[in-house]
Amino acid sequence: MKPAKKPDKPGQPERILPKQGGYRKLKSFQIAELIYDGTVCFCNRFIDRRSRTHDQMVQAARSGRQNIAEGSVVSRTSKKMELKLTNVANASLEELLLDYEDYLRQNKLVQWDKNSPEALRVRGKYKSDVSAASDVSDVYDFTTAAAEVTANTLICLIHQATYLLKRQIQRLEEDFLEQGGITERLYRERVKVREAAGVPETPQAPQCPRCGKVMVRRVAGRGPHKGQPFWGCSGYPDCTGTRPADQGGPANNPDESNFQHEGGEA
Ligand SMILES: [Zn+2]
Repeated sequence: MKPAKKPDKPGQPERILPKQGGYRKLKSFQIAELIYDGTVCFCNRFIDRRSRTHDQMVQAARSGRQNIAEGSVVSRTSKKMELKLTNVANASLEELLLDYEDYLRQNKLVQWDKNSPEALRVRGKYKSDVSAASDVSDVYDFTTAAAEVTANTLICLIHQATYLLKRQIQRLEEDFLEQGGITERLYRERVKVREAAGVPETPQAPQCPRCGKVMVRRVAGRGPHKGQPFWGCSGYPDCTGTRPADQGGPANNPDESNFQHEGGEA
């Protein structure tokens, strides 16, 4: 084992990303919320409510928004978890992007070129829009524009969001390399050793969304979910953080499952 690195230099500028919990100020959160709201509107107007596509698109959009927020909340306790959640957010939005492209192709509608005047207009609107995402004025005409325009507008916005998320991921990876906590450094060493030995990484239990401690598999003993498994904080009873059973853990190897949508498909 290598000797532990020296502690981080004091006074180093590390506040590139907002403070923990400051996600409402994150540009990626704001645009992901706009995409979520726009997708709910699009699906209600143009996709059969009873279809799987309707659910999948709304869930992907929600997962994008939600994982950005959760990633920001765990930022202080675990860079590793923040990185993981930010990656899930990005993957969810990439999946949603494909859904919109499918919609256009299958309905014989035109997908805008990314440098078309229409796409440039959406980007210009996004860049000049300083309002919060929860703006009620429907700047992008989600409630009135035709399906082709709405889908293309959302595609443009998703490209903006994934661009921001990829930059965030890159920065987190850099921060992580320089400032990763001791457990995270040890974890990385272990992964390297395993990879060198050709042993695949075992899926990890998730970390508590409240305090960052590792979670343990539990079964509800009472209440409406009696008998059903869930993740509980190992710090219980001091911490009562929980996660749904389908988040992380051996039952949900990310290589096999789709993406980690809340309440997603089994
Ligand atoms: Zn906890």
